[in-house]
Amino acid sequence: MATQNPDRVQGGVLDPTTVQDFRNRVRGALLESGHSEYEDARRLQNGLIDRRPALIVRCSGPADVVEAVNFARDRGLLLSIRGGGHNVAGNAMNDGGVVIDLSGMRGVHVDPASRTVRAAGGATWSDLDREAQIFGLAVPGGVVSTTGIGGLTLHGGYGHLRRTHGLSIDNLLSVQIVTADGQVRTASSTEHADLFWAVRGAGSNFGVVTSFEFRAHPVGPLVQLCAPFYALEDGRTALRAWREFNDSAPDEINSLAVVWSVPDVDAFPPELRRRPVVILATVYVGPPEKGARIMQPLRELATPLLDLSGPIPYTALQSSFDPFFPKGRFYYWKSTNVHDLSDACIDTILAAAAERPSHMSDIPIWHLGGAMSRLAPEATAYGRRDAPYLVTAEATWTDAAQNDANIHWARELVTAMRPFSRGGLYLNFAGFGEEKEAMLRDAYGPNYDRLAALKTLYDPDNLFRMNLNIRPAGAPV
Ligand SMILES: Cc1cc2nc3c(=O)[nH]c(=O)nc-3n(C[C@H](O)[C@H](O)[C@H](O)COP(=O)(O)OP(=O)(O)OC[C@H]3O[C@@H](n4cnc5c(N)ncnc54)[C@H](O)[C@@H]3O)c2cc1C
Repeated sequence: MATQNPDRVQGGVLDPTTVQDFRNRVRGALLESGHSEYEDARRLQNGLIDRRPALIVRCSGPADVVEAVNFARDRGLLLSIRGGGHNVAGNAMNDGGVVIDLSGMRGVHVDPASRTVRAAGGATWSDLDREAQIFGLAVPGGVVSTTGIGGLTLHGGYGHLRRTHGLSIDNLLSVQIVTADGQVRTASSTEHADLFWAVRGAGSNFGVVTSFEFRAHPVGPLVQLCAPFYALEDGRTALRAWREFNDSAPDEINSLAVVWSVPDVDAFPPELRRRPVVILATVYVGPPEKGARIMQPLRELATPLLDLSGPIPYTALQSSFDPFFPKGRFYYWKSTNVHDLSDACIDTILAAAAERPSHMSDIPIWHLGGAMSRLAPEATAYGRRDAPYLVTAEATWTDAAQNDANIHWARELVTAMRPFSRGGLYLNFAGFGEEKEAMLRDAYGPNYDRLAALKTLYDPDNLFRMNLNIRPAGAPV
C-alpha cells in the first residue's frame, strides 16, 4: 500500500536526509534543482512542457529502477518514467515528484543466430537500428530515430516496416518489467502472459520496462524509397491515385502521404522552402530494383516539384525525418483512424492543410493494413486493427503566442475526420490525452475492460498514473 509522507515533500523539495539515504542505495546520479545537469535533464522533446520534479533518478540498471519504484511508492510521491522523452503530453516529467530517467540504460544486444534483439528500456531507435543493421537485421520501430523504443513500443509502434512485419509490439517476444510492488518480472507468452498481453498496447500503466526482447527481420542494407513532392494544387489528383495504388499494394509497400510544406532547411532549394506539398513517402521492403518498378506510378501522378526517390541505406531512411522535428519546438499531435478515405475526406484534409497556422505542421496519412492488421483485435491490448488509414494532425510551431491557434487547428482536423471514421485512434498521437477514459475506450475497444481489471491486479494504488491512465477499480478520477 502507498503510504503518504507529505511532510517530507515541501514545495517540490525532498528533505536532505531522505535524499541522502536514497543516494546511498542507487548507482546512478540523483539530480535535484541546482544540480548542473538538472535543467537539461528535465527538458523534453516538446518545448511546451516545463515541469520541475523533486528528483530525477538517472538509473544505471534494473536495480536502480527497483529502488526508485520502492522509494516513490513508499512515500506516496508522484512517479514518471522517462524513455526517449518524445511523448507530446510530457508524461515523462512531473512537478514535485520522482522521475525514473532511463536515458543511461541504452544497451542493445543482437543475436544474429536467433534473429533476436534485446534492448534496454531507455534505448532509442537509432541505438537499436545501428546495432541490428550490422547483422542486416531490423525491428519495426518509428520513423524518427531519436524516439525512445520504450514509449513508442508500449503503445504499438508505427514505422516503415508496419505492413511488412507488423507493429513494434507484434515483434515483442518478452519484456523485463519492474511492477508497482518493486518486483522484477519477465513477461512473455509463457510467463505472466496476462501482463505480456497488457504491455503490448497499455503504455506505462503496468510498470517500468527495463528491457525489451524483439524478433528481428532481414532488411537492407539498402531499401527503395519513393518520395515525390507534389504541389498542393495537385494534391487532390495525387491522393486519389495514391488511394487506388494502396488498394492493391503488396505488404512490402509501406506508404505515408504527408501533406506539409517543404521544410525550411538548407537541404531543400530556397525557392521551394515553405511551399505546401503532398509527399508520398513510400518504402519498399525487399529488393530495391523490384520496389522501384512497383512504385514508379506514384512518381508520375503529376509533375513533382522535387523527387527524392532512390535506394537508401536503411539507417539513413530511419533518421531522414530527424532534422524536421528538433527538440524544443512546440508539438501537439493528435490522430484518428479513417475507414473511408473518400474524395470528400481528401478534400477536407487538403482544406485543413491550407489553413495551418504554422508551415511546420503536417498531416501524415498512414496507410495501414498488411501484417499489422492480421492479428486478432484481442491478441494484444492494442485493439483496433481494422482501419486502413490513420490521419494525424501534427501541429508543430515555435511562437508561444500561437499556442491556442495551433492546438485548435489540430483538434478541428480530428473532429472534421469523424464522418470518415468508425472510431479509434493511435495513442502515441493522442494530444494531451485530455478526453481521458473516453479516449481510452475508443482506442482499446472491448479490450479496455480487461486492461482495467489487470491494472487493478498489478497496480491497485495507481502508482503508474503519469500516462494515458487506465484507472484501477476504485481509484479517484
Ligand atoms: C518527433 C516525433 C516523432 C515520432 N514518430 C513516431 C513514429 O514514427 N511512430 C510512432 O509510432 N510514434 C511516433 N512518435 C510518437 C512516439 O511514439 C510517442 O511520443 C512515444 O510516447 C515516445 O516514446 P519515448 O520513450 O520517446 O517518450 P517518453 O516521453 O520518454 O515516454 C512516453 C511514455 O512512455 C513511458 N515510457 C517510456 N519508456 C518506458 C519504459 N521503458 N517503460 C515504461 N514506460 C516507459 C513514459 O513514462 C511516458 O508515459 C513520434 C513522436 C515525436 C515527438
